[in-house]
Amino acid sequence: MLYRAGRMRVFIGLGGNLGDPRGTFASAAAQLRRIGLVARASSLYRTAPRDMVDQEPFLNAAVELETELEPRDLLEELKRLELMLGRNPDGIRFGPRTIDLDILSLDGRCVEDLDVRLIVPHPRLVERRFALEPLAELAPGLRPWRNCADVRRDVTVLDLLPSVADQDVQRVEGPEWADPASADWAGPISRIH
Ligand code: ADP
Ligand code: MG
Repeated sequence: MLYRAGRMRVFIGLGGNLGDPRGTFASAAAQLRRIGLVARASSLYRTAPRDMVDQEPFLNAAVELETELEPRDLLEELKRLELMLGRNPDGIRFGPRTIDLDILSLDGRCVEDLDVRLIVPHPRLVERRFALEPLAELAPGLRPWRNCADVRRDVTVLDLLPSVADQDVQRVEGPEWADPASADWAGPISRIH
């Protein structure tokens, strides 16, 4: 895939609570490097499950990716990656999963592409501390609705945090999980390096 840096700055949220989420996140970061530039990664957070509470705690993180892909192509890549990294496509909604990859924010743009079921900023971003906290670590002043006809145009990620402060989210490790050397398996191309 052809790639030139810098066209779109995307924030991707990672989550998982099955198997070895840290290792899976490392593999995801390695794979994301094949579709763009992973500019930064957040710390790792241990977070209480929401929506379906009777399951193991999750690990969550976020990465900043610079990519040339169009939003719907990026979503397709993320879904492909989820499957490749062991996600059960028939798993229960909000239930245990090896990895969930969500497009949290796309350069302050709003997307509603109903053909492929894509909404950006992610529709549940504002109610999830597990997504907001890693995002705030990378870009506290980010305004996810900046370029939209939306009353939230001036709202920053930092502004959103107080309303989710009651949710249990703990930082457990720095961003080393995303170092290229952390991935056990990065696929045939990356393995050459
Ligand atoms: P969640 O991410 O809320 O835990 P799922 O991972 O099961 O739930 O996602 C369900 C669907 O949400 C996906 O099939 C995808 O088409 C859709 N979706 C809508 N907007 C987004 C987005 N911004 N990022 C990722 N998926 C999205
Ligand atoms: Mg998802």
